[in-house]
Amino acid sequence: MVDLVSVQQNLSMLQGRIARAAAACGRDATAVRLVTVAKTQGVEAVRAAIQAGSLIVGENYIQEARDKFDALGSLPAQWHFIGHLQTNKAKYAVRMFDLIHTVDSEKLAAELDKQARKTGKVQNILVQVNIGAETTKSGVAPDQAIDLIRRIAGYENICVQGLMAMPPFFDAPERARPFFSALRKLRDRIQEEIPVPAQELSMGMSGDFEVAIEEGATLVRIGTAIFGARS
Ligand SMILES: *Cc1c(COP(=O)(O)O)cnc(C)c1O
Repeated sequence: MVDLVSVQQNLSMLQGRIARAAAACGRDATAVRLVTVAKTQGVEAVRAAIQAGSLIVGENYIQEARDKFDALGSLPAQWHFIGHLQTNKAKYAVRMFDLIHTVDSEKLAAELDKQARKTGKVQNILVQVNIGAETTKSGVAPDQAIDLIRRIAGYENICVQGLMAMPPFFDAPERARPFFSALRKLRDRIQEEIPVPAQELSMGMSGDFEVAIEEGATLVRIGTAIFGARS
Protein backbone atom coordinates (compact mmCIF):
# COMPACT_ATOMS: atom_id res chain seq x y z
CA MET A 1 0.00 0.00 0.00
CA VAL A 2 1.11 3.50 -0.85
CA ASP A 3 0.22 5.96 1.88
CA LEU A 4 -0.31 9.70 1.62
CA VAL A 5 2.31 10.59 4.21
CA SER A 6 5.15 8.72 2.53
CA VAL A 7 4.13 10.05 -0.90
CA GLN A 8 4.17 13.57 0.57
CA GLN A 9 7.58 13.03 2.16
CA ASN A 10 9.05 11.48 -0.97
CA LEU A 11 7.71 14.30 -3.13
CA SER A 12 9.09 17.04 -0.94
CA MET A 13 12.47 15.29 -0.77
CA LEU A 14 12.44 15.00 -4.56
CA GLN A 15 11.52 18.63 -5.08
CA GLY A 16 14.52 19.50 -2.91
CA ARG A 17 16.84 17.29 -4.93
CA ILE A 18 15.52 18.75 -8.21
CA ALA A 19 16.03 22.30 -6.91
CA ARG A 20 19.59 21.52 -5.74
CA ALA A 21 20.52 19.83 -9.03
CA ALA A 22 19.16 22.82 -10.96
CA ALA A 23 20.91 25.35 -8.71
CA ALA A 24 24.21 23.45 -8.96
CA CYS A 25 24.34 24.09 -12.70
CA GLY A 26 22.89 27.58 -12.63
CA ARG A 27 19.41 26.65 -13.84
CA ASP A 28 16.13 27.89 -12.43
CA ALA A 29 14.30 25.03 -10.63
CA THR A 30 11.02 26.12 -12.26
CA ALA A 31 12.55 25.14 -15.63
CA VAL A 32 12.44 21.48 -14.55
CA ARG A 33 9.00 19.90 -14.24
CA LEU A 34 8.38 16.64 -12.44
CA VAL A 35 6.27 13.97 -14.15
CA THR A 36 4.95 11.60 -11.45
CA VAL A 37 5.08 8.20 -13.14
CA ALA A 38 1.99 6.30 -12.00
CA LYS A 39 2.19 3.01 -13.92
CA THR A 40 0.89 0.09 -11.81
CA GLN A 41 -0.28 2.51 -9.07
CA GLY A 42 -3.95 2.58 -8.14
CA VAL A 43 -6.38 5.48 -8.05
CA GLU A 44 -5.77 6.25 -4.38
CA ALA A 45 -1.98 6.40 -4.76
CA VAL A 46 -2.32 8.80 -7.67
CA ARG A 47 -4.89 10.87 -5.77
CA ALA A 48 -2.42 11.09 -2.88
CA ALA A 49 0.33 12.27 -5.23
CA ILE A 50 -1.90 14.98 -6.72
CA GLN A 51 -3.03 16.06 -3.25
CA ALA A 52 0.62 16.22 -2.22
CA GLY A 53 1.30 18.63 -5.08
CA SER A 54 2.12 16.53 -8.16
CA LEU A 55 1.20 18.72 -11.11
CA ILE A 56 1.78 16.12 -13.83
CA VAL A 57 0.78 12.43 -13.85
CA GLY A 58 2.62 10.17 -16.32
CA GLU A 59 1.00 6.98 -17.63
CA ASN A 60 2.36 4.15 -19.81
CA TYR A 61 -0.78 2.22 -20.75
CA ILE A 62 -4.00 3.62 -22.24
CA GLN A 63 -6.46 1.27 -20.48
CA GLU A 64 -4.80 1.72 -17.10
CA ALA A 65 -4.74 5.48 -17.60
CA ARG A 66 -8.44 5.59 -18.53
CA ASP A 67 -9.49 4.07 -15.21
CA LYS A 68 -7.48 6.63 -13.25
CA PHE A 69 -8.34 9.54 -15.54
CA ASP A 70 -12.06 8.81 -15.15
CA ALA A 71 -11.69 9.02 -11.38
CA LEU A 72 -9.17 11.86 -11.11
CA GLY A 73 -9.30 13.79 -14.37
CA SER A 74 -11.11 16.71 -12.75
CA LEU A 75 -8.34 17.28 -10.20
CA PRO A 76 -5.76 20.00 -10.93
CA ALA A 77 -3.08 17.92 -12.67
CA GLN A 78 -1.91 17.48 -16.24
CA TRP A 79 -1.73 14.00 -17.73
CA HIS A 80 1.21 12.92 -19.89
CA PHE A 81 1.53 9.72 -21.91
CA ILE A 82 5.00 8.14 -21.69
CA GLY A 83 4.43 4.57 -22.95
CA HIS A 84 4.49 3.06 -26.41
CA LEU A 85 1.39 4.25 -28.28
CA GLN A 86 -0.35 2.11 -30.86
CA THR A 87 -2.02 3.99 -33.70
CA ASN A 88 -5.40 2.44 -32.90
CA LYS A 89 -5.28 3.98 -29.40
CA ALA A 90 -4.49 7.48 -30.65
CA LYS A 91 -8.04 8.75 -30.15
CA TYR A 92 -8.05 7.85 -26.45
CA ALA A 93 -4.63 9.43 -26.02
CA VAL A 94 -5.82 12.69 -27.59
CA ARG A 95 -8.81 12.75 -25.22
CA MET A 96 -6.74 12.37 -22.06
CA PHE A 97 -3.23 13.70 -22.49
CA ASP A 98 -1.82 17.20 -22.45
CA LEU A 99 1.50 15.90 -23.77
CA ILE A 100 2.39 12.64 -25.53
CA HIS A 101 6.13 11.95 -25.06
CA THR A 102 6.50 8.97 -27.37
CA VAL A 103 5.80 9.80 -31.02
CA ASP A 104 8.26 7.88 -33.19
CA SER A 105 6.68 7.55 -36.63
CA GLU A 106 4.95 9.69 -39.21
CA LYS A 107 2.05 7.23 -39.21
CA LEU A 108 1.38 7.80 -35.51
CA ALA A 109 1.84 11.56 -35.87
CA ALA A 110 -0.65 11.63 -38.75
CA GLU A 111 -3.22 9.67 -36.74
CA LEU A 112 -2.81 11.95 -33.71
CA ASP A 113 -3.22 14.97 -36.01
CA LYS A 114 -6.39 13.47 -37.46
CA GLN A 115 -7.90 12.64 -34.06
CA ALA A 116 -6.93 16.03 -32.63
CA ARG A 117 -8.55 17.83 -35.57
CA LYS A 118 -11.83 16.02 -34.86
CA THR A 119 -11.97 17.49 -31.38
CA GLY A 120 -10.55 20.89 -32.32
CA LYS A 121 -7.42 20.33 -30.23
CA VAL A 122 -3.79 21.01 -30.97
CA GLN A 123 -2.06 17.97 -29.44
CA ASN A 124 1.34 18.68 -27.94
CA ILE A 125 3.84 15.89 -28.60
CA LEU A 126 7.47 14.98 -28.08
CA VAL A 127 9.44 12.83 -30.48
CA GLN A 128 10.96 9.83 -28.77
CA VAL A 129 14.56 9.22 -29.81
CA ASN A 130 16.28 5.85 -29.34
CA ILE A 131 19.36 7.68 -28.19
CA GLY A 132 21.38 4.54 -27.42
CA ALA A 133 20.35 2.82 -30.69
CA GLU A 134 19.15 -0.22 -28.69
CA THR A 135 17.21 -2.87 -30.58
CA THR A 136 14.90 -3.42 -27.60
CA LYS A 137 13.72 0.20 -27.32
CA SER A 138 11.19 2.26 -29.20
CA GLY A 139 12.02 5.62 -30.64
CA VAL A 140 13.30 6.99 -33.88
CA ALA A 141 17.03 6.61 -34.60
CA PRO A 142 18.97 9.78 -33.72
CA ASP A 143 19.91 10.40 -37.37
CA GLN A 144 16.24 10.08 -38.42
CA ALA A 145 14.78 12.48 -35.88
CA ILE A 146 15.36 15.65 -37.88
CA ASP A 147 13.85 14.09 -40.97
CA LEU A 148 10.76 12.90 -39.06
CA ILE A 149 10.23 16.32 -37.48
CA ARG A 150 10.60 18.07 -40.85
CA ARG A 151 7.89 15.80 -42.23
CA ILE A 152 5.44 16.37 -39.36
CA ALA A 153 6.18 20.05 -38.65
CA GLY A 154 3.44 21.14 -41.06
CA TYR A 155 0.63 19.12 -39.46
CA GLU A 156 -1.77 21.69 -38.02
CA ASN A 157 -3.24 19.75 -35.10
CA ILE A 158 -0.04 18.49 -33.52
CA CYS A 159 2.79 20.61 -32.17
CA VAL A 160 6.32 19.25 -31.60
CA GLN A 161 7.36 20.57 -28.20
CA GLY A 162 10.66 18.69 -27.92
CA LEU A 163 12.34 15.31 -27.51
CA MET A 164 12.15 12.38 -25.11
CA ALA A 165 14.63 9.57 -24.53
CA MET A 166 15.45 6.64 -22.27
CA PRO A 167 19.19 5.99 -22.40
CA PRO A 168 20.55 2.47 -21.84
CA PHE A 169 20.30 1.36 -18.21
CA PHE A 170 23.41 1.83 -16.09
CA ASP A 171 23.99 1.31 -12.37
CA ALA A 172 26.17 4.41 -12.39
CA PRO A 173 24.08 7.45 -13.49
CA GLU A 174 27.20 9.29 -14.69
CA ARG A 175 27.40 6.81 -17.57
CA ALA A 176 24.06 8.06 -18.91
CA ARG A 177 25.44 11.62 -19.24
CA PRO A 178 26.73 11.31 -22.84
CA PHE A 179 23.27 10.15 -23.94
CA PHE A 180 21.50 13.05 -22.21
CA SER A 181 24.01 15.43 -23.70
CA ALA A 182 23.49 13.94 -27.19
CA LEU A 183 19.73 14.44 -26.86
CA ARG A 184 20.24 18.07 -25.90
CA LYS A 185 22.50 18.68 -28.90
CA LEU A 186 19.92 17.11 -31.18
CA ARG A 187 17.22 19.36 -29.67
CA ASP A 188 19.41 22.43 -30.23
CA ARG A 189 19.92 21.48 -33.88
CA ILE A 190 16.20 21.01 -34.39
CA GLN A 191 15.49 24.42 -32.92
CA GLU A 192 17.99 25.95 -35.36
CA GLU A 193 16.81 24.11 -38.43
CA ILE A 194 13.03 23.64 -38.12
CA PRO A 195 10.30 26.13 -37.15
CA VAL A 196 8.85 24.12 -34.24
CA PRO A 197 9.05 25.13 -30.54
CA ALA A 198 11.00 21.97 -29.49
CA GLN A 199 12.10 23.45 -26.15
CA GLU A 200 11.35 20.38 -24.01
CA LEU A 201 13.80 17.61 -23.08
CA SER A 202 12.06 14.70 -21.34
CA MET A 203 14.90 12.71 -19.80
CA GLY A 204 15.93 11.35 -16.42
CA MET A 205 14.25 8.82 -14.09
CA SER A 206 14.61 7.93 -10.39
CA GLY A 207 18.18 6.68 -10.77
CA ASP A 208 19.67 9.40 -12.95
CA PHE A 209 17.53 12.55 -12.96
CA GLU A 210 20.18 14.76 -11.38
CA VAL A 211 22.59 14.08 -14.24
CA ALA A 212 19.73 14.66 -16.71
CA ILE A 213 18.99 18.05 -15.11
CA GLU A 214 22.65 19.02 -15.40
CA GLU A 215 22.41 18.17 -19.10
CA GLY A 216 19.28 20.27 -19.63
CA ALA A 217 16.22 18.12 -18.82
CA THR A 218 13.00 20.16 -18.65
CA LEU A 219 10.79 17.15 -17.76
CA VAL A 220 12.01 14.38 -15.44
CA ARG A 221 9.90 11.21 -15.24
CA ILE A 222 9.98 9.67 -11.78
CA GLY A 223 8.06 6.75 -10.31
CA THR A 224 10.06 4.65 -7.85
CA ALA A 225 11.44 7.58 -5.86
CA ILE A 226 7.83 8.71 -5.20
CA PHE A 227 5.84 5.50 -4.76
CA GLY A 228 8.58 3.01 -3.87
CA ALA A 229 9.51 -0.06 -5.90
CA ARG A 230 6.76 -1.38 -8.20
CA SER A 231 5.55 -4.87 -7.33
C1 LIG B 1 8.57 3.59 -15.50
C2 LIG B 1 9.10 4.71 -16.31
C3 LIG B 1 9.74 5.81 -15.70
C4 LIG B 1 9.98 5.90 -14.20
O1 LIG B 1 10.97 5.04 -13.80
P1 LIG B 1 11.45 5.01 -12.25
O2 LIG B 1 12.76 4.34 -12.33
O3 LIG B 1 10.42 4.25 -11.49
O4 LIG B 1 11.55 6.42 -11.80
C5 LIG B 1 10.15 6.85 -16.52
N1 LIG B 1 9.95 6.83 -17.85
C6 LIG B 1 9.34 5.79 -18.46
C7 LIG B 1 9.14 5.84 -19.93
C8 LIG B 1 8.91 4.71 -17.71
O5 LIG B 1 8.32 3.67 -18.35
